[in-house]
Amino acid sequence: MAVIHPKLEQGSSARVTNIDRGIFEGGAQGAAATVSVLFPLPLPKAYDYLSPGALAPGTFVRAPLGPREAVGVVWPSPPDGASPEKLKPLAEVINAPPLSPAVVDFIQWTADYTMFPLGAILRMVLRANDALETPRMQTAFVAAGAAPSRMTPQRKAVLDIADDRPQTAAALAAAAGVSDAVVRGLADAGALRRVEIDPDPPFAPPDLDRPGRDLTDDQAFAADEIAALIARRAHKAILIDGVTGSGKTEVYFEAAAAALRQDPAGQALILLPEIALTLPFLARVEERFGAPPAPWHSELTAAQRRRTWRRVAEGQARLVVGARSALFLPFADLKLIIVDEEHDNAYKQEEGVIYHARDLAVARGARGGFPVVLASATPSLETVVNVDEGRYEAVGLSSRFADAALPDIELVDMREDAAEAGKWLSPKLVAAINEKLVLREQSLLFLNRRGYAPLTLCRRCGHKMTAPGSDTMLVEHRFEQRLVCHHTGFSMPKPSACPQCNAVDSLTPCGPGVERVAEEARERWPEARIAVLSSDTAPGPRSMREVLDAMKNGAVDILIATQVAAKGHHFPNLTLVGVVDADLGLAGGDLRAAERTYQLLSQVTGRAGRAEKPGRALLQTYQPRAAVLEALASGDRDAFLAAEAEGRKTLGFPPYGRLAAVTLKSRDEAALEASARAMRALAPNADGVEILGPARTPIYRLRGVARQRMLVKARRNVNLQAFLADWLARVKKSSAVRITVDINPYNFL
Ligand code: ADP
Repeated sequence: MAVIHPKLEQGSSARVTNIDRGIFEGGAQGAAATVSVLFPLPLPKAYDYLSPGALAPGTFVRAPLGPREAVGVVWPSPPDGASPEKLKPLAEVINAPPLSPAVVDFIQWTADYTMFPLGAILRMVLRANDALETPRMQTAFVAAGAAPSRMTPQRKAVLDIADDRPQTAAALAAAAGVSDAVVRGLADAGALRRVEIDPDPPFAPPDLDRPGRDLTDDQAFAADEIAALIARRAHKAILIDGVTGSGKTEVYFEAAAAALRQDPAGQALILLPEIALTLPFLARVEERFGAPPAPWHSELTAAQRRRTWRRVAEGQARLVVGARSALFLPFADLKLIIVDEEHDNAYKQEEGVIYHARDLAVARGARGGFPVVLASATPSLETVVNVDEGRYEAVGLSSRFADAALPDIELVDMREDAAEAGKWLSPKLVAAINEKLVLREQSLLFLNRRGYAPLTLCRRCGHKMTAPGSDTMLVEHRFEQRLVCHHTGFSMPKPSACPQCNAVDSLTPCGPGVERVAEEARERWPEARIAVLSSDTAPGPRSMREVLDAMKNGAVDILIATQVAAKGHHFPNLTLVGVVDADLGLAGGDLRAAERTYQLLSQVTGRAGRAEKPGRALLQTYQPRAAVLEALASGDRDAFLAAEAEGRKTLGFPPYGRLAAVTLKSRDEAALEASARAMRALAPNADGVEILGPARTPIYRLRGVARQRMLVKARRNVNLQAFLADWLARVKKSSAVRITVDINPYNFL
């Protein structure tokens, strides 16, 4: 149950009396007021209730909703105009810090921008279910300084560990290797003292005076520019553009320190694209600020989530490191956001409310009136254009710290330097790895494909194994002996006969995944220490960490990995990166395919030679003339970006135009087609708007649900959301066909 403050009782006209008037606006003995309450449910608007006094927007309340009561937030929307007699009274006002005006404003903005219901955005803020409840005090134990009358080895083990820091019975017992009962027995015997502790202990404050590293001239210049921006106390986005290893992280740590120093109650948020990166990153923050930051990501336990949420809402947690959803934490006084690897597509959330965390971070900064720092070695075209057109500022770090050289990148034309039949590594790449093995240096083979083979085909009848009700290929995972769909999660044991023609042993794996390249590597280099890393081979950030640590410590000679190894890791003895299939990302051909390929491949090749030894990268390709690969080989990023920009400009695609995807989904294909056609016909006429489609999505059916899509392309001066709202209002809603809108889509599958 939530803390009720004040207690509400049945009473006179408003049926809510005996209230501590202090919590109402103006503290007045004022008349009953109508307040709007938004619930964290997919509802588009707030509902009116009767309150004994005015309440500030952002205040948490509990109010009757249908047959139940639900937690909601007082919302600054104008009353519906219903007469007060018809309104239900609030049930209680919750004693928790209200959402700050900037957070309320940000929720409203996000709903307007993404076109998802307001309540669905609020639900993203209320992600720690019990954070609004009174924390139940926990019993902990400290040493009492007295010995028990009877000593046993178990008791001694506990007393050796116990000190004046309160620890729970479970924690003490686990550390001493005894049962909880031993701990309680010691407390009963007077050797330990029971104390009550908050289950959500405060976070240790970051030590802002702890000296950071001595910055190089470049780094110091960049840090000063950002500090000047922070001192202006105004919103502006600034890009730190610097190759991997140039010290972007060191520079933005100084920015965080400057912002927190300037506002003693202020908070800073560092966003990272991947949780696999957060664990080592938390340690790095701790090293810089003498205390770990408040973490926020999907691997936290419920208790850890509640602790971060509560402490962020109180303003106690000053430095937060999190994944994209951390943007929706209820910051009391956020003063700076840093978006590391700003170009990373992991910032785009595709499930539930569809949003791009980098774009929302900039919007959040605009709402809160503070700067937003974007960092990347391969900034997105969107950000580069924002810099070029003067909307964002930029600082550059041109070289790697301590003169570590950038790797020498070479294309391997697979038409001329072909791998043997049934093999995937060209003679040139094999020779390069041989050399590294002799030198006792490490190699990374990169292939962004999980499993053994991406396609399983019947040699007899040509049948392709697909997931049930889906147009997705089943990927063989040989280690588990299963066929797996990476889109739906469906999996099955690999059948011994073709389900179509019943031919036995005819199902053949086609093409390589990391497991298959590992098989080849083990055959070629039986003596080498080989490890495979992908989200399947190491499920969960901890087991991934183990492989990454082994690589870092030199316990692996050849690492074969998907993109999980591409980002942010520092392997001092890695000097060769082989990209098994550099063409892979170009195949789908969506508007960002080349840009994504550039980012991913320059990131992965950037793993080579980060320390004192120079690195080398070999990119295996069948299209050595592709502009993006030529740009990678010549290191001419700016020319590549200029050509990309030109292409997008010609086509009127983002960032030179606006784009939205309207996707219709249904189990009933006939109804789907009819609805898509009917919807298309209802589109309003508008200048500067073009509608492409409807057309089947490239993966047409997923789990029995078929999908049709329209792309809406508009000139930059068009209010795309208003156009879409007008259009959607004309469409008859049907339960058989679901419509979703994705503003600025990244996923076209
Ligand atoms: P980026 O974020 O650009 O990839 P980092 O900030 O991670 O680069 O720096 C790369 C490595 O160089 C890190 O180990 C970092 O601690 C070290 N480094 C960068 N700048 C300095 C500096 N001025 N003094 C000491 N070490 C530094």
